[in-house]
Amino acid sequence: MHRPAQDPTDPIMSLSARAPAAEMRLPGTSSHSNPSAASRCCSFYNHPVTSSSAALNADLHCHSCVSDGTLTPEALAQRAHANGVQLWALTDHDEVGGQARAAAAAQALGLPYLTGVEISVTFAGETVHIVGLGFDAADPALGAGLAATRGGRERRAREMAEGLAKAGIPDAFEGALRYVSNPDLISRTHFARFLVETGVCNDTSEVFRRFLTDGKPGYVPHRWAALGDAVRWITHAGGLAVIAHPGRYKFSANEEYALFSEFKAHGGTGVEVVTGSHNPSDYVKYADIALEFGLQASRGSDFHSPDESHTDLGTLPPLPAKLTPVWSALADRVLR
Ligand code: AMP
Ligand code: MN
Ligand code: MN
Ligand code: MN
Repeated sequence: MHRPAQDPTDPIMSLSARAPAAEMRLPGTSSHSNPSAASRCCSFYNHPVTSSSAALNADLHCHSCVSDGTLTPEALAQRAHANGVQLWALTDHDEVGGQARAAAAAQALGLPYLTGVEISVTFAGETVHIVGLGFDAADPALGAGLAATRGGRERRAREMAEGLAKAGIPDAFEGALRYVSNPDLISRTHFARFLVETGVCNDTSEVFRRFLTDGKPGYVPHRWAALGDAVRWITHAGGLAVIAHPGRYKFSANEEYALFSEFKAHGGTGVEVVTGSHNPSDYVKYADIALEFGLQASRGSDFHSPDESHTDLGTLPPLPAKLTPVWSALADRVLR
């Protein structure tokens, strides 16, 4: 599925090379939009596809060291490009501090880019993630909402460390901090890396299973943003809101129906169908749900780290052709 990165005959590369080298701005700050982009033609899987096609190798979900990934925004841009990604978004948790770097690195590579974020939300007592795409990263209300969402993370992390200390693991707060690049964004993933490094567990999945999920010693329930607020922050900043990896939530059928209904009512328009967090039966289930609710479909690896993630950037199967891709509605938000 990978395409060579530097193939000069690659249509999207030559398309990128033709793109004007005008200064790049984040959406909402200038008239950078390019209406003809949606109808341009490129190739993927040896089929001619347009940049609004479901077959586009779009990867619209991943994390840098600005949240809980291990690579810089620049290294992720390189990796996405090398893996044949044709449209990319960095979606750090509750944080847009990496957007300018990601967009600049993508532009330097000729890789079309959408701004991105993944907002933590509490819905029906569970944590749900809402991805935002194609917004103005400088929007003040979005910035304030994200700052408030990040706000409780340090207090929560200190409580997590207290729980772990009682279970015989001392100094976990300081240990987790060693893995944190952005002190506002200490997350369970950083604790997981510390517990692997110190030999308590073999890998991060084991840490989550034994220590960091509901009922385990390092788990601290947390109240994140409200669903409606997250959707509004994104949409008022000119972006589209997408339910991230719905197959991961432990909802009853009624709760899941309520999530999709309320998300739509708040103005949400998309759902991740093909993601690194789904198995193939989830692709089928959420493709049907996308059609049932009239939602556009998104695709993203949720890549965090070469050492930890089982799905690399740009390596997922394409979206089912019957779905409307979220990027078909975002053509004028793409940065080139
Ligand atoms: P937080 O936002 O601090 O609650 O951390 C959530 C992050 O933990 C997710 O975005 C994933 O990167 C990671 N995570 C959650 N569950 C698991 C798991 N079972 N195995 C590995 N990583 C996980
Ligand atoms: Mn994460
Ligand atoms: Mn997530
Ligand atoms: Mn994610």
